[in-house]
Amino acid sequence: MNLWVTEYQSENLTIGCRVLKTLYREKTRFQEIMIAETLQFGKMLLLDGVIQTTVADEFVYHEMITHVGLNTLEKPRRVLVVGGGDGGSVREILKHKSVEKVTLVEIDGKVVESARAFLPEISCGLNDPRAEVIVDDGIKHVKENPDTYDMIIVDSTDPVGPAVGLFGADFYRDVYNALTENGLFVAQTESPFYNRELIPRIIGDVRSIFPVARFFMASIPTYPGGLWSFTMGSKKHDPLEVDINSIPKMETRYYNPEIHSSSFVLPEFVKELVK
Ligand code: SAM
Repeated sequence: MNLWVTEYQSENLTIGCRVLKTLYREKTRFQEIMIAETLQFGKMLLLDGVIQTTVADEFVYHEMITHVGLNTLEKPRRVLVVGGGDGGSVREILKHKSVEKVTLVEIDGKVVESARAFLPEISCGLNDPRAEVIVDDGIKHVKENPDTYDMIIVDSTDPVGPAVGLFGADFYRDVYNALTENGLFVAQTESPFYNRELIPRIIGDVRSIFPVARFFMASIPTYPGGLWSFTMGSKKHDPLEVDINSIPKMETRYYNPEIHSSSFVLPEFVKELVK
């Protein structure tokens, strides 16, 4: 048998992976969910044919979207994840002892259900007593919960369908209001190679709302271009002023104190995008 999944990363570019078997496939109100066992990356979650996460490289994305921000704050207690139904961000957040509660607001309950059933190594944190799962639109949740969270993580799909609003200035204003006095947020903000109009708009919006706006990157093989970006907006704390020697030891495979600083070092073409 010669089965492949093909993601159309643009009209002119695909990435293909040989599949051993399909573990789960369902069309929900929001999207088509597929979990496949691939030969190269192990189990892979796709939504509408777009790779979301794989067992082989998920650690890079989930460690970077969580620890850089959490280690910029002093003892964060309440954390919100918008999207992120696979649970990988929650698993990482729970490594921080100061965190008392993590709320995950995912629009599609079937993503959470299927991750619980087929991706336990990623979703395991969802069973922790400190984790709460709410099936709802993250845009609405953020608007309705002012002054609640020390950190908000926007772990979303690409800016299509229900995720479009998660990349807009109105949403970032609501995120500002939903954060506590010294809070910060981190969002996944796509590929510096392929999203050259989106990224300057996002960083411009975040700069107009937050006193501190920062842009950082990580290498993620299964995402378009292999180089992925994250944007941080912070009310007070600056990730570049963190004393990296004081970062607590944690079990990670990508993130470490040196990466905390070096992920903000940008190549010339990316500096140009975010200037
Ligand atoms: N790591 C991933 C990436 O960058 O490809 C993101 C993975 S996570 C599975 C993304 C989740 O965001 C999806 O499960 C999707 O249902 C959810 N989502 C999209 N729009 C949303 C919204 N408005 N509110 C809450 N969740 C949303």
